[in-house]
Amino acid sequence: MFETLKPSPPDKIIELLEMFRADPRTEKLDLGVGVYKDANGKTPVMRAVKAAEKRLLDTQDSKSYVGILGDLEFVKLLGELALGSSVPADRIAGAQTPGGTGAIRQILELIKRSNPAATVWYSDPTWPNHPAMLAHLGIPSRTYRYFDAATGGVDFAAMMADLVAMKPGDVLLLHGCCHNPTGANLTLEQWAEVTDFVVKAGVVPFIDLAYQGFGDGLEADAAGVRHMAAAVPEMLLAVSCSKNFGLYRDRVGAAIAISETAEKSAITKANLASLSRLNFSFPPDHGAKVVALILSDPALKADWQAELESMRAGMLELRKGLANELRRATNSDRFDFVGTHRGMFSRLGLSPEQVVKLREDFGIYAVGDSRINIAGLPAQGLGKLAAAIASVES
Ligand code: PMP
Repeated sequence: MFETLKPSPPDKIIELLEMFRADPRTEKLDLGVGVYKDANGKTPVMRAVKAAEKRLLDTQDSKSYVGILGDLEFVKLLGELALGSSVPADRIAGAQTPGGTGAIRQILELIKRSNPAATVWYSDPTWPNHPAMLAHLGIPSRTYRYFDAATGGVDFAAMMADLVAMKPGDVLLLHGCCHNPTGANLTLEQWAEVTDFVVKAGVVPFIDLAYQGFGDGLEADAAGVRHMAAAVPEMLLAVSCSKNFGLYRDRVGAAIAISETAEKSAITKANLASLSRLNFSFPPDHGAKVVALILSDPALKADWQAELESMRAGMLELRKGLANELRRATNSDRFDFVGTHRGMFSRLGLSPEQVVKLREDFGIYAVGDSRINIAGLPAQGLGKLAAAIASVES
């Protein structure tokens, strides 16, 4: 049977990580994989997570299955964190999923089940797993222009011009905040314009929210999502707790669907449950329980928010520092966008050859499209990094 399998190309980012590990240079720098790192290069277990895990260890008296949709308290609390009070609770159906990826997968399957004719439109560029999963599921898809390489910002006029070709019932995939891989985000005014378009065109927004709290803060990062949720009859939302709770390996997320009415929401919920049953039956429990404990305990929640806020502030500081050093090294303001981007990533706009040169000559590992992970930057080495970028550029 297996002799018919064709070689499956490895994920580019995983491949990069392996190359980094094999590189003997001590001054090497990993700006590839999308994991938050503190000033010591560590990906910490957050304080509130540790505390909640201890509590869980002491009090959990069974490992029997949870419900098919997971811990409903977790789903409700995570939904509130993302959506605030923008939508009545009886229009929201959610399922706990294995990470944000699991949420995206379940939502794509829900789309396929509800409207097999729908085309899913995603930004060019986007997180590579979006098109990969769409292709795997055989869902029709198209791209819309998003990034303006010349300015490092969003080419909003081009984006809106492309979206005009969407048909009613098509799905518009958006990043809720902290766009991956570019770091360039819609302003609140632009969210409002996209919302007007979505309502008029009768298309369904699908928002991937993987970095809430990493950009401008927990509330600000959800502002566009909430504006849209309040205005549209239907919306899909994939939430990940990997980054903002640091729970990467525990696989914590939720697939959330907003339906037009409470009656329709009950049917959506039943379909989410059936899709979970078909794909993995019950979602993993541990991380979701931890998140539910944190979000329902005022002291734990406050401590989590404080630590998240200090991670965010640290990344912002590094952005500003790198933008300043790049000004100095290139004698120009052309990299100022690094300071205005938000989230963990920035796309520098270097060619693939320049990215290879960074790796080979300086041991600096960036993704091939010149995406760098801001959280991986060494605070003491920003000048050296800026000089390396300036040198491959000239
Ligand atoms: N969406 C985006 C845009 C991401 O960058 C990621 C993580 N790299 C995810 C979803 C999913 O993350 P996870 O499955 O680890 O929660």
